[in-house]
Amino acid sequence: MIKDIQHYPDMANPQLRPRYSGIATFFRTPLLENIQDIDVGVIGVPFDGGVTNRTGARHGPRAVREQSTLVRRYNQATKVGPFDLVRVADLGDAWLEQPYELSGALREIQAFFDKVHAAGVTPLSVGGDHCITLPILRALAREGPVGMVHIDAHCDTGDDYLGSRFHHGAPFRRAVEEGLLDPKRLIQIGIRGSLNHPDMWQFSHDVGMRVVYMEEFSDRGWRWAAEEARRVVGSGPTYLSFDVDGLDPVFAPGTGTPESGGISMIEAQRLIRELAGLDFVGGDVVEVSPPFDPSGLTAQNAANVLFEILCLLALAVKQRRGTL
Ligand code: MN
Ligand code: MN
Repeated sequence: MIKDIQHYPDMANPQLRPRYSGIATFFRTPLLENIQDIDVGVIGVPFDGGVTNRTGARHGPRAVREQSTLVRRYNQATKVGPFDLVRVADLGDAWLEQPYELSGALREIQAFFDKVHAAGVTPLSVGGDHCITLPILRALAREGPVGMVHIDAHCDTGDDYLGSRFHHGAPFRRAVEEGLLDPKRLIQIGIRGSLNHPDMWQFSHDVGMRVVYMEEFSDRGWRWAAEEARRVVGSGPTYLSFDVDGLDPVFAPGTGTPESGGISMIEAQRLIRELAGLDFVGGDVVEVSPPFDPSGLTAQNAANVLFEILCLLALAVKQRRGTL
């Protein structure tokens, strides 16, 4: 380090320096391109080859890194300090050598997460479009299907589209078919918007997923939704996938497929906090599209959702080790 720290030795830790300084990493954690001695790895997946309409989510990780530098070290509401509980690092990007070949791109993403999983690291990812969650689940669900709390305007259980089995509207159908997700331990919250055909999400119902449409959420509220999520996923290993379009476009305009009438930011924060104690094995925030986000608001809210999920993962890691 060229700079000599003279007054505050604690500032050897980049997280304790002024938040506007330094290279933007996720939450100002150290950037590691090799996995070593960490518990939770925050990972960018700059890929949007699965987008069916407005592209741009490949730029999501960089924008969320930038906005995440505003996030401080402790959760004011829950008092959780994830960086005190576990070792957190920015593992860089699962970037792609061949992004234009979709199946191969998903294999490249999986290969990255295979290594992360083999190292015993719990991944927290930032997309990218929602198709990235499929290769992440392929890596994480090796030992058997996992449950999932899925917050999104869309069920993402569509079928082949324009000749492709893989796109951001189908990852969870594929994941159920591949035995990666247990549909009976899966809840989808915030579903709304217009449809291409009336039974577009029929697969979710056919395989027994709990689908919470936005009307039910708005009638019953975030606290009820959290209780319902806890009931559905139970105590087994669970993944948390947050599509930023689950938020109302007032809070997240910068996304490829916005749908009016969505979840507010405070509802999302309180819902996620209420899930503390579940056995989360990984999580992601996807579909931030900076070209549609000139103010940075969507990336800022995504970074704050990411922090809430990080708090849950830190607690889950400690719980699995019996050290909480
Ligand atoms: Mn989605
Ligand atoms: Mn969506």
